[in-house]
Amino acid sequence: MRNEVFIAVVGTSPQVVTEALYYFYCDAYPEHQRKFDRVILISTEEGQKILKEDLWDNHKLEELEKALKLEPGTVPVRKLDILCFKDNEGNPIQDLRTTENNMNSLAQLFEVVMLWTSDPNTRVTALLSGGRKTMSAFMALAFQLYARDHDEMFHVLVPDDKMYNKNWFFPSDPHNPDEKLEVSFIPVIKVGRYLTNRITLDPFKMVKELQEKLIRNAPLQELKIEGNIFSSGIEKVILEPRDAAFLRYLIMRRKDSGCNDDCPGCEKCGITPFDLSMEYFNGKIHDIYDSFMCKDRHFAERPDPVKDKSKDFTPVVHQSISRIKHKLEENEHSNLNKSLKPYKAHLDMTQRKKCWYVVKIDPLIIEIVK
Ligand SMILES: [Zn+2]
Repeated sequence: MRNEVFIAVVGTSPQVVTEALYYFYCDAYPEHQRKFDRVILISTEEGQKILKEDLWDNHKLEELEKALKLEPGTVPVRKLDILCFKDNEGNPIQDLRTTENNMNSLAQLFEVVMLWTSDPNTRVTALLSGGRKTMSAFMALAFQLYARDHDEMFHVLVPDDKMYNKNWFFPSDPHNPDEKLEVSFIPVIKVGRYLTNRITLDPFKMVKELQEKLIRNAPLQELKIEGNIFSSGIEKVILEPRDAAFLRYLIMRRKDSGCNDDCPGCEKCGITPFDLSMEYFNGKIHDIYDSFMCKDRHFAERPDPVKDKSKDFTPVVHQSISRIKHKLEENEHSNLNKSLKPYKAHLDMTQRKKCWYVVKIDPLIIEIVK
């Protein structure tokens, strides 16, 4: 069984904590029932003071357990698990108003979320309702970087008239509609741990690195083909016309295959070198060439259906594919070049040498100008 860990940022309203805990422990809200093993609260110096006053001095924690019919001490909120944001000299932060304080707090929040999500035996339930808006945003960012698939983030809402009532900490009757808690599950995309193993890197550096990585791997949004020029946005690559004819054949095969963007290559959108050499023999590559080049430009003569019947054209195919790859590799960081590179798919596991050439491009973005 996993350890359940609750993490929340709290401003000067400890109510968000009691409301959320009430929600997770109360039978009247069966949807996300959970009993926590640790409750970690992160706040400013002022927030920490109010939390301790309300939860212990004013007995709100005790009242919460009583309302939930729980034994005292069941909800594991402990004073030592209330963490305080510190400035860069280690002094407690009163309020998060300056950029510098915000950055220090963000680093501390990152550390806490990273720590608890590093243990495979935990499930983290994060709450982003408390504190200033910046804190909620920071919590979501920390979660995005460190949370695993099974961790979850929530936001708690209370009826409007209870929101600013400093004396309302949780419903007195769970079935009273006027006291109903609304909790929304926040679908944060968890990316950090799924994009890098260097999770302990300085978080600010990691955000920058991950952003760059995402940009490098962004799907191509358009592909314009004009003769032997292939372009996408400001990027473009120009191939020898004969090689362009081969690449256009492969791209058109992908487009006409009916395959989706995510097809890794199959017999419909790919073609074996032998079959491609047969298409060459049948004049298909010459047809494409003639569709965009003036007739008088030089290209190898069309194979003769009779004379060349037993001739092997696979070397022509291999040479052209290798020239295409070579040209595209001149700029291997370009998304356009990466997307156009003919990929060798091994679809037949019994014949490891047999391959299919495929250009893994989204069939829907292809536009032929000429
Ligand atoms: Zn396919």
